[in-house]
Amino acid sequence: MQQTLSIVKPDGVQKNIIGEVITRFERAGLKIAALRMVKLGIEEAGRFYIVHKERPFYGELTAFISEGPIVVMVIEGKDAIKRVRDIMGATNPKEARPGTIRADFATNIERNIVHGSDSPESAAYEIPFFFSAPDIMKNS
Ligand code: UDP
Ligand code: MG
Repeated sequence: MQQTLSIVKPDGVQKNIIGEVITRFERAGLKIAALRMVKLGIEEAGRFYIVHKERPFYGELTAFISEGPIVVMVIEGKDAIKRVRDIMGATNPKEARPGTIRADFATNIERNIVHGSDSPESAAYEIPFFFSAPDIMKNS
């Protein structure tokens, strides 16, 4: 079993597709182990995406992710990290496989609806960023 952090980003919440995103994960047999809605401040957003600090899009990205409420969740399952990313599709929706969340709903490479941890190391940073151990359900 593996855990990963996923986020319905502000554009996904705005487009009323929180349920659609969650349904796609659930339909694949993945389990929601923790979930809540939150609005990040710009500083928190900067800490969450600290790995991208030197990238040219860092400022815009942190502004975007803090522009409105988001839904953060821990998703659990075998190979959850890779499977969530497969369901999400490529970062740039123009390159995302048809039938993925980003191909179906993303506006552009920035406003791309959904986040998923990209490695066990990222998940180990991102999950505790939002959830403490007692908030993550066992055997969900
Ligand atoms: N992003 C962007 N411009 C880019 C690349 C990424 O605005 O050229 C944003 C986009 O919202 C993306 C996030 O930054 O989801 C994190 O980038 P990353 O390369 O980690 O993509 P992801 O892991 O989300 O597919
Ligand atoms: Mg990433």
